[in-house]
Amino acid sequence: MWQAQVRVDLDAIRENVARLRAGTSAEVMAVVKGDGYGHGMVPTAHAVLDAGAGWLGVCTLGEALQLRRAGLTAPVLAWLLAPGLPLHEAIAADVDIGIGSCGLLAEAVTAAQLAGRPARLHLKVDTGLARGGATAEDWPDLVEAAAKAQSDGTVELVGVWSHLVFADAPGHATIDRQLTAYRDGLAVAERLGVRPRYRHLANSAATLTRSDTHFDLVRPGIACYGLSPVPGERFGLRPAMSVRARVMLTKRVPAGQGVSYGHTYHTERAGTLAVVPLGYADGVPRHASNRGPVQLAGRIRRIAGRVCMDQIVLDCGDDEVAAGDVATLFGDGRHGEPTADDWAAAVDTINYEIVTRFGSPRVPRIYAGDRP
Ligand SMILES: *Cc1c(COP(=O)(O)O)cnc(C)c1O
Repeated sequence: MWQAQVRVDLDAIRENVARLRAGTSAEVMAVVKGDGYGHGMVPTAHAVLDAGAGWLGVCTLGEALQLRRAGLTAPVLAWLLAPGLPLHEAIAADVDIGIGSCGLLAEAVTAAQLAGRPARLHLKVDTGLARGGATAEDWPDLVEAAAKAQSDGTVELVGVWSHLVFADAPGHATIDRQLTAYRDGLAVAERLGVRPRYRHLANSAATLTRSDTHFDLVRPGIACYGLSPVPGERFGLRPAMSVRARVMLTKRVPAGQGVSYGHTYHTERAGTLAVVPLGYADGVPRHASNRGPVQLAGRIRRIAGRVCMDQIVLDCGDDEVAAGDVATLFGDGRHGEPTADDWAAAVDTINYEIVTRFGSPRVPRIYAGDRP
C-alpha cells in the first residue's frame, strides 16, 4: 500500500514526442535536464528515444555522464559547464559540449588532447537572452579560435546554436530580432569556414508555434512532458505527471477552528478535516498555503492553512471523506483534477517549476505505460 506517489505516464511522453516530431522536419533533441523536469531523467530518456527523438539535451556534465552510465548511446549535448570540470570525461563518453566562450573552448581543446579524440562542440551565440553564449562582439573571436582547433583536429564543430527570450509569446518582436541575430551569427561562422551540420534555436514554444526557428534540430523540453509552454494553449499535449497521496486521518472540528501553523485558516462551520501526507519537503510549494487546489472526494478544495514540511490539511465540510481516500494534487485533468497549470496559476509560477519540484526521494515515482 502506498502513502504518496508521483506517477509518470511514459506513454504520454511518447505521444507528446511523436506529436512534436509530426510538426517539424527538423530532428528532435528532447531536453531531459533537471531530472527530466522531475519525471526521472533515465526513464524519460528511454521514452523520448522510443518515440523517435534523435538527441538528448541536458545541462550538466553529471547529467550527461549519468545518461551514459545508464547505457544510453544516443547523441547527448551538455551546455552548462563551469570552468575546471573534467571535460575529458565528457569527450571520452562521446558527449557533445556547448561552448559559449573562448575560455571554455581552450579547456575543451586541452581535454580533447587528454582524451585522445576530438571534442564535439556546439558553439553558442548570444542573440539577446544575455545568459550563455558569446555576444555578437565576441562571436567572431570564438568562431575563429574554434575553426583553428578544428583544422588542428582537436575539435569537431557539430553545431551553432542559441536560445530564445520570449518564445512563449509567439508574436513577440524579440523572436524576429533573435532570428536575425542568429542568422548573422551563422553568416559570420560561414565566412570563417564553419558550416555546422546542426543549427538549433527552438525550445518547446518555438517548436510548436514558429517553424521558421526550427533549422536542423529543435530542443523541446516542457512539451515532451505534456505541458504547454504557452499559457492558455494546450497543443493537444497530454501531461505525464500526476501527484497523489492518501488521506492519513480525518477528524471532525467545530466552526472557528484554526488550522495548521499560525492558524492562517479558520473553519467557517463545523466539518471534517482531512490530513494529507505531502508537504514542502516533497515538492508542495509553501506558497501554496491557502491557495493550492487538491481534488478529494470528488471536489476540488483549497489547502486549508499553511503547507507544512510533511503535510497539508483540507477542509471537507460535511462531505464523506475517510482515511485512505486518495487526494490528487494534480494530474492530466481528465478526471476533473487540478493540473500543473492550475498549480502554477495558484502559486504564481510556471508549470515547469511545479513538476520539477516533485523529485523528493521519499515520494516514490511510479511509472505507467510500457517500461523500456
Ligand atoms: C531548458 C532548455 C530548453 C528546453 O526549453 P523548454 O521551454 O522546456 O522547451 C531548450 N534549450 C535550452 C538551452 C534550455 O536550457
